[in-house]
Amino acid sequence: MADAESETIQDQSEGEHHSNLAINYRGLFHLGNDPMVVLDAEGGLAASNRMAQELLGPKPGAVRSLIAEQFSPKADSVADEALSEFLRDVQEMGSARWQFRLPETNRVFGARLSYLPVELIEGGGFLWTAHEVTEWTHLEESRQELVNMLVHDLRVPLSNIQSSLDLVLTAWRERDVTLPMEQLLQIGQRSAQRMEHLISDILDSARLQAHERTLTVTPIDVATLVEEAVEIVTGSAQRRRQKLQVAVEPDLPPMEGDLELLRRVLVNLLGNAVKYTDEGGEITITATLNTTADDLSADEYAAKFQFSIHDTGPGIAPRVQERLFQLFYRGDSTKIKSTGIGLAFCKLAVEAHGGRIWVESTPGSGSTFRFTIPRPLPRHTPYYQEGG
Ligand code: ADP
Repeated sequence: MADAESETIQDQSEGEHHSNLAINYRGLFHLGNDPMVVLDAEGGLAASNRMAQELLGPKPGAVRSLIAEQFSPKADSVADEALSEFLRDVQEMGSARWQFRLPETNRVFGARLSYLPVELIEGGGFLWTAHEVTEWTHLEESRQELVNMLVHDLRVPLSNIQSSLDLVLTAWRERDVTLPMEQLLQIGQRSAQRMEHLISDILDSARLQAHERTLTVTPIDVATLVEEAVEIVTGSAQRRRQKLQVAVEPDLPPMEGDLELLRRVLVNLLGNAVKYTDEGGEITITATLNTTADDLSADEYAAKFQFSIHDTGPGIAPRVQERLFQLFYRGDSTKIKSTGIGLAFCKLAVEAHGGRIWVESTPGSGSTFRFTIPRPLPRHTPYYQEGG
């Protein structure tokens, strides 16, 4: 099989071992995973491999026009001129790279055109290769979108803080007592809290996922925990004229857990209920301790605290419910600015406590988010650490 396309490679470079392999270069060219096309010195088609034919179809001019399109999508004669000029440039520079999108399928490729000297092709020519980057481009686009949303989510409260401070400062300098100082300072405080909350959610999600954050476990009074969380969202609910109802089972024993994480879980769930429910809607938070026979047979943790946050919002479609707790998943809420971080954080925080979180919802009839925290907490987990 030793013809022009096959060759026996023997030790060519010092210190490197090459076995005596007969390589079929024509076969390699044709079966390569990336599309490859060889053009002659004028840009005419000399050869194309299987992938190139699959991608561009059997038309011999396809690559030529694909390259020409990069430079001049106008009249053919202009395109021809532009192409010849481009080929001369590539010959001088050695190679050129660019990205293109196939309009029919929206697939994105990174292309490279390299000059092939006369030793490789009679009269000189060019090798055009392309590598699909569609998935990478989508990832890059969603990363960029996420960065934009995060910046927006941090920027809005930051400009609120700035304008409150500006007003307070002006009033103080001018000894103006007519400005509602307390209200302005509260706006600043709330905005700073929102920023801190989002940053902590992002950092804690990453740390919990990497098992780098342990729980700081202390006894928690459930009624106080719920009260604190409700207090944080009360202002937003009032501005939306929503009714916030609390129903905590009386005389609950203390719960074990990481107070800061659990408070933020509740604030996230309550915040979502406020955000996604229309003005005038109703939000109810309940907390109970369940010790049913069912629980006893289900697992070793006989008792569970269960928290439920119910809203009269739009509800969530079943196909969305399945993915809701994934990081950066934002459901159908295209009109509302959101990051898709809150519920992912809630899941990580609840599961670090050995609990479970889920949603029950019928589109059109509101949503109920529920989570459980076992009593006592499981001791032998990577997250458990007794707090002070
Ligand atoms: P964010 O609210 O920033 O998008 P989350 O992770 O908290 O992040 O929520 C993910 C998605 O879940 C939201 O974009 C929204 O589509 C949906 N969602 C969450 N809570 C509710 C709710 N109470 N009612 C309707 N949809 C909700």
